[in-house]
Amino acid sequence: MHFQTITKLLRLPNVIVIGVIENGDDNLHLIVEFTDKYEPPVCSGCGAVHTSVHSKGQLRVEDLPISGRRVFLYLEKRKCRCPEGGIYVEFLPWLHGRFTKRFAEQINRLTAITTNSEAGWFFGLDDEVVYRIDRAILQEKADDLLAPTPAPRAMSVDEVAWKKGHSYVTNVVDIDRRVVIWNHDKHGKTVLDAFFKSLTEKERAEIEVVACDGAKGFLSSSRHYAENALIVLDHFHVKSYLSAALEDVRKQELAKAKKDATQDELAGLLHCKQRFILLRNKPSRKKTQVLKRLEELNEPVYKAMLLKEQFATIYDFREKKAAQPALRAWISEALRSGLAPFKELALKLFRKRHYVLNFFVQRITSAISEGINNKIKRLKRMAYGYRDVAYFLLKVHQHCGLLNPRRFN
Ligand SMILES: [Zn+2]
Repeated sequence: MHFQTITKLLRLPNVIVIGVIENGDDNLHLIVEFTDKYEPPVCSGCGAVHTSVHSKGQLRVEDLPISGRRVFLYLEKRKCRCPEGGIYVEFLPWLHGRFTKRFAEQINRLTAITTNSEAGWFFGLDDEVVYRIDRAILQEKADDLLAPTPAPRAMSVDEVAWKKGHSYVTNVVDIDRRVVIWNHDKHGKTVLDAFFKSLTEKERAEIEVVACDGAKGFLSSSRHYAENALIVLDHFHVKSYLSAALEDVRKQELAKAKKDATQDELAGLLHCKQRFILLRNKPSRKKTQVLKRLEELNEPVYKAMLLKEQFATIYDFREKKAAQPALRAWISEALRSGLAPFKELALKLFRKRHYVLNFFVQRITSAISEGINNKIKRLKRMAYGYRDVAYFLLKVHQHCGLLNPRRFN
């Protein structure tokens, strides 16, 4: 066998193949040696070169498959006694635990588009191994790319439930770059404070826009730290408030209709399967039909839908001056609607009207927040429950931020 050829095929720095183990299985088992094995080892503890070798150990590492066959490398790794205390294995830049770095990175690339268990199936590894590799690679990249925090000019902050039982995380998005740049466990003022504190004073002063849902904590943190920024309760968040209010009305009316035997048809129309038709923004034939029937059968839901759609027309105005009376008109109509969820929303939007109207000064596209929101939803579905929040935060960066492997090549 031409070991030289296999060595060339492997293309690992300073690695030569000196033997092949025939195992009877379909995998390639290669014994390798280092061309620089007489050079003193680099300590993985302190990064310095130490002349004394403490001991040697055998190690089997997996590399990328060749021609569909899994590849295992058998090598001798040295340990050195570190003058700073402790015994460390030597540092090899192309290794990542029991895998070659390039193999670990390939796994990480695959987990950016599919679940860990599917990635594991693809490579013949169990989920736990994939999880450990993925997490470690993401953490390495995070240390490299996310610290210090990349400062935004325009930012949007959002909280999202990451598992059942009101466990929230906060994500900060750079609107210009369309990526998540920072995230953290929990939500509220102290969390957003931590984001601003991760920036320099100059960077904070240079923030021009902060978009948020208008929650008290976010507002007070933004006012305090981003003094020069225009704070906007943007279209994306208003839209989700409107959808939530409509959803509340639908549920109330559905509950009523279910109790009333004569309201079978209405119950059917208000059933959650139809909900998507109601929430859809674009008009369709189906939606028009459902709407028409709803108008005949149930005034409250119909009214709620009209209110939601009316609000959307406010965004057709280009200028704050024109939007202001339209907003005022909407608020008074919602207050008079007799629909509790919309009354409540009208009061909220009245209190926060300045922030709502700031949107007409800085029109931030809601497409970015929507896109990221959808990606996070998909991510949550894909994972079937994340066990630790730190991993979830890293995955958000991988799917919606600077840790996406597509950015690297
Ligand atoms: Zn050392």
